[in-house]
Amino acid sequence: MPATVLCARCQEEKPGLESAPLGGANGALVLENVCADCWAEWRETSAQLINHHGLVLGNPHHRSQLRQAMREFLALDEEEAEAG
Ligand SMILES: [Zn+2]
Repeated sequence: MPATVLCARCQEEKPGLESAPLGGANGALVLENVCADCWAEWRETSAQLINHHGLVLGNPHHRSQLRQAMREFLALDEEEAEAG
């Protein structure tokens, strides 16, 4: 069973993810602060963003744009996420 998290986005205590969905600091941040439901919503939204803006995940600039959008969507603080 995944641990319960107090989700930064929906502000509810809900089951979190079983493991960090991303590498580095961003993955740890999501694991500790985002519930599984909100992460699933972000996955859908990110797919739409990627399609809409033609983002290429191999492109570091596009990846950083997407990380920024993710932090806004999930209401995560910026400060700790830069290292990832
Ligand atoms: Zn949530």
